[in-house]
Amino acid sequence: MKVLVPVKRVLDANIKVRVKADESGVELANVKMSMNPFDEIAVEQAVRMQEDGTASEVVAVSIGPEKAQETLRAALAMGADRAILIKTDADPEPLAVAKILAKIAADESPDLVIMGKQAIDDDSNATGQMLAALMDWPQATFASKVEIADGAATVTREIDGGLQTVKVQLPAVVTTDLRLNEPRFASLPNIMKAKKKPLDVREAAETGVDLAPRLSVVKVTEPPARQKGEIVESAEELVAKLKAKGVI
Ligand code: AMP
Repeated sequence: MKVLVPVKRVLDANIKVRVKADESGVELANVKMSMNPFDEIAVEQAVRMQEDGTASEVVAVSIGPEKAQETLRAALAMGADRAILIKTDADPEPLAVAKILAKIAADESPDLVIMGKQAIDDDSNATGQMLAALMDWPQATFASKVEIADGAATVTREIDGGLQTVKVQLPAVVTTDLRLNEPRFASLPNIMKAKKKPLDVREAAETGVDLAPRLSVVKVTEPPARQKGEIVESAEELVAKLKAKGVI
């Protein structure tokens, strides 16, 4: 079984996001970038499938700038076999990403595309669903458990108030939720090995996909500053204050 894992280079989840002074977006200059955390979970799942003999090849793909090679090397260090960078300095929206991924899926014929449920920068939660629609493949989103057997994936999904288990025939698109697994840290020898694994770089323009944005960002603003807390002496005082504020 061949597995394709799209991975996006995003702002590192642990850094404090700063909004640009002109409110046109967030500051990306000189800030740490990493693999989207849900994509790390997808790579981990694909590599586990390879380790238990379910998958024969794991291919990581990213659409992004030259520096997204670092993200792909990280996927290779976790255990992916080879990588493809579709290079562009534009910041393509989910539909354009899905169209490019559909072209790669048509070339590579994977049995499974496993990817993050959402990118933590745009929070779109759309690319996997769009890819499945474009390919006319079944989709199982928000996976917290994935089992492959007899040409199908049985996927447990986290839904409001419980878990839902669905079975999809392969080829299919699966998107990962937080509790699917704990991604590994790449060891130093594996980081060294990853430098020698194949990484194919192609220009996004060669795909023929229109990358022009369909949305325009009106503005990006900081969340309201948190009000300072207050220490009260007793439960009675707390109740009185909450009543005075109309909270209770
Ligand atoms: P989104 O729909 O933007 O929230 O992203 C959902 C998932 O699509 C991500 O977790 C990635 O697996 C994949 N994805 C989105 N953008 C890219 C990109 N530029 N390159 C590779 N994968 C991407």
